[in-house]
Parts: sequence; structure tokens; C-alpha cells
Amino acid sequence: MKDDAVQPDDGVGLRRLWAPWRMQYIHRPKKGGCFLCEAFSSQDDRSQLILYRGNSCGVILNRYPYNNGHLMIAPYRHVPDLDAMNPEERHEMIDLLSRSIQVLRRTMSAEGFNAGLNLGECAGAGLPGHVHLHLVPRWTGDTNFMPVVGGTKVIPQSLDDLWQQLHPAFVS
Ligand SMILES: [Zn+2]
Repeated sequence: MKDDAVQPDDGVGLRRLWAPWRMQYIHRPKKGGCFLCEAFSSQDDRSQLILYRGNSCGVILNRYPYNNGHLMIAPYRHVPDLDAMNPEERHEMIDLLSRSIQVLRRTMSAEGFNAGLNLGECAGAGLPGHVHLHLVPRWTGDTNFMPVVGGTKVIPQSLDDLWQQLHPAFVS
């Protein structure tokens, strides 16, 4: 696959997911700011795609998803790794991982998941200064469930539609 080289967040089982819209991510202008800090400091959860705000961590949709429903869980504080998180943050991050899995099972009938941390730039962290846990829902056959027509893959659902579907499931 020609775009292997531009999939910095590869984890187990993700290599075969073809996500050409991630080229937008690779080629986006570098702004220097932290998109997680920006999102968490906003008042508008919908435009920022924030699904849930806990005490110390929040859940946010990934704008450049590997799969429909790809989300991230991160502490509000701009800290680079697990060592720098306090026990409350670490605890809540895992609680929110568990809750997110339940929500994606219930609302999207996800059948499996890839979850993981990319720590450090050499490990593929797109945002090395602000630790975040990726959660990618999986379905049987999702590596080939969308035909490629003229070089474009159809994104099955807009991010705003997805936010509207998932947000109520987190708060209920
Ligand atoms: Zn940050």
C-alpha cells in the first residue's frame, strides 16, 4: 500500500485500514498550538467534537479517523506521558476508555477495538506534548468494506452526525 509511510499512528491491526483522508492531517499547516488544549478550553463541545467531559479527562472525536467512531481520551492538562499524569487522571482515563467502548458497542454495534498510546514522535505521536489514548472501533471486514472508486473512499458518516449520535449516549 503506497501510503504506509504516512500512517504515523499505526498500531496492531491498523496497518491495513486505508484512510486517505488522513492525507489532510499529514499535509495540514503546522500551527504550533495544541489542538487538545484548544478544544478543551472551548465552550462549544459540538464544534470541537467533544463527546464527554469528566473531572480531569475528556473524550473527543478524532478529526482524521482511521475508522468511523475513532475517538481519543486525554487529560485536560497539557502533559506528555503517563508519568506526568496524576493518579486521578490515570484512573479516569481508563474509566473513560471502558465507558467509550460501551458507548461504541451500543450505538455503533462495534465488534472489536484497537486502543493505544503513541508515546514520543518516533512512536508516531502526532501531538507528543499532550498524552492521549486512541480508541478505534472495528467491524469484521472493515479493512475492505468500502470500495475504492476513482481513488476516493467514502467516509460513512460526517463527524457532526457522529457527534450527535454519540454525545447523548455518553451523558445518559
Ligand atoms: Zn495540550
